[in-house]
Amino acid sequence: MKNYIGIDLGATKTKIDIFDERYKVLAEKILLTTSKSGYDSVIKSIADNINSMLLAIGISIDSISCIGVGVAASIDYKSNKLIYANNLDWKEVQLEQEIRKYFDKDIYLVNDACAAALAEHKFGSSADYKNSVLITLGTGIGAGIILNNKLFLGGDKYGIELGHIIIDVNGKKCNCGKRGCFETVASVNSLIGEIRDSVEVKNSLIMCLCDNDLINLKGEMVFEAASMGDNFAKKILNKYIDYLAIGISNIVLMYRPQIVVIGGGIIQVGDLLIKPLNNKLEELSSDMEFLPIPKIVKVKLGNKAGTLGAVLAAQML
Ligand SMILES: [Zn+2]
Repeated sequence: MKNYIGIDLGATKTKIDIFDERYKVLAEKILLTTSKSGYDSVIKSIADNINSMLLAIGISIDSISCIGVGVAASIDYKSNKLIYANNLDWKEVQLEQEIRKYFDKDIYLVNDACAAALAEHKFGSSADYKNSVLITLGTGIGAGIILNNKLFLGGDKYGIELGHIIIDVNGKKCNCGKRGCFETVASVNSLIGEIRDSVEVKNSLIMCLCDNDLINLKGEMVFEAASMGDNFAKKILNKYIDYLAIGISNIVLMYRPQIVVIGGGIIQVGDLLIKPLNNKLEELSSDMEFLPIPKIVKVKLGNKAGTLGAVLAAQML
């Protein structure tokens, strides 16, 4: 019997799942990612936990056919190397080789949004479509592209970086050094930053929702305030959704997906985000009405999308 290990290495948490050949979860674990202590100690902790999980369910490492590792990072798929992970503060890490020190298995790295795109394509919202795009909204913006049922890894397999396409040339400076990147205007962090920088927020319902301390502010609260009629929240969200829709419409022009799937914690607001986003995309596409406009929907899979997608990537790449 073949089993698989999926790892979803995030900035704060690392999820490890062991799947059987039908993708049923045999064992699961969530660890805190202590990225500041260096990648070698993070990998050691992952390896120790995998060994104890295998022991607990009575499965030998010999039954594991591959290990997939999803990570919020730019990946060089040609050499299976992590190039840069902003939120982990890691650069140029031979992650696959480091994990191989513990497990002599086929090990594959994949960007976390690409992993989620694969999982949604196999089992989730984009399962009925050959061409789809998944966009995750969080600290930054991640994207995974499926073209003709395959994960698109960019020219020469150097990955794609849609979070850094420029939306506003005069916009805020991005971590990458450019101005007005997609993630500086449409990530959840950018939404929160916009509100924290505004003086008008003092008279907004948002202040009540975050207990009068903007340190507690979450993206969902802005949607909640807007749905309660708060004009400031509505104004900020209109601008946010405009930027998000502009980015999506550019991506639609590039890749022609049949469906666009949105993920990230913010998606719990559901139609408060999805409906106006679809309306805005239609508006932006109205001069191209001879071409189909893809529907924007939310992710379907829960917190297993990352580990499952990493395993699917490992089987495919
Ligand atoms: Zn950038």
